[in-house]
Amino acid sequence: MVIGIIRLDRNEIPYPPPERVIEASKKGLLDVNRYPDPEEADQLRRMLASYSNVEQRCLFLGSGSDSLIVQVLRLFSRRGRVVTVDPTLSFVTRETGDRETKLLKIRISEPYCSLLVRSFADELKDACLIFVDNPNNPTGTLLLDRGSVDELCEIIDGVVLIDEAYYEFSRFTVADMVEEHANLVVVRTMSKAFGLAGLRVGYMIAGEDIAKKFSSQALPYLISKPSIYAATEALRNTAYVMENVRSVLDERERVKEEASKMGVKVYPSQANFLLMRTHEPSLARRLRDYGIVIADLSGQMPPGFARASIGTREENNALLQSLKTLFESDEDLPHLTQ
Ligand code: PMP
Repeated sequence: MVIGIIRLDRNEIPYPPPERVIEASKKGLLDVNRYPDPEEADQLRRMLASYSNVEQRCLFLGSGSDSLIVQVLRLFSRRGRVVTVDPTLSFVTRETGDRETKLLKIRISEPYCSLLVRSFADELKDACLIFVDNPNNPTGTLLLDRGSVDELCEIIDGVVLIDEAYYEFSRFTVADMVEEHANLVVVRTMSKAFGLAGLRVGYMIAGEDIAKKFSSQALPYLISKPSIYAATEALRNTAYVMENVRSVLDERERVKEEASKMGVKVYPSQANFLLMRTHEPSLARRLRDYGIVIADLSGQMPPGFARASIGTREENNALLQSLKTLFESDEDLPHLTQ
């Protein structure tokens, strides 16, 4: 019997932020008849810049990192070739597919590992923009190392847009490289490790030329007052973030191990989710019968792939138990790929 729904399909962290962060956001409602104070937004920029070890002038806020990604795409991909990896975020493909651009998708296939930038050099040369989520969603793989980002920035005249939404889980960043590469842009978010998905706080880090172009187009009030207050408070003491990240990483490895024992193929991940493969083409749909929602990747990947975020220990146990029951109850379910 399904008692409640467990959502493991959106790569959210399962823990709410601390009470003081919630309180700060409530304080932001007190004089909500006023626009957000630009000074307070600047303070948030300063704190995010210090957290990211970059200059404040390179850092811009946005309502979630998705809106920043779309803004960068619109600003820099008017004509010419746009390159993405495949699979990637569906809104990126949708956004670029609509325009006069020629979209090139670099298919990443098993085994999921670093992209060999040099082997695509010819296609990349005249690109106006390349987008890579690193780690990639949905594979969880770090596709680029620092050397590959260096190469990309040198090969491409256009913009190299790197999405580090899962930075706190992978601990890998190229944000500091915006100083060396004028065409590099890094986007990050407070939706994942900071647990502020519902408040929509994203940020972008860019070199000077792009920063200038971006600020000339910027709107005055990008994020709401409750969001500014909560994000600022969240950055005052980030120890809880690191603690939550540690719990997620421990749980991720436990789920990976336990699900593998059942015959599920589980891929290595540098993020807070796991890519899984079974011979069951509708695993996500069948898990819904047990009240577990995971992401069905059938539109994006070959049959049998699904993505599950790491939840609380109890939620993960429910996922594992449901997988076990499903496999035990279905004799016909062919055993799974290793
Ligand atoms: N980038 C990646 C790789 C994501 O997986 C997501 C959301 N799942 C986003 C960006 C968007 O995050 P947000 O808009 O909440 O900052």
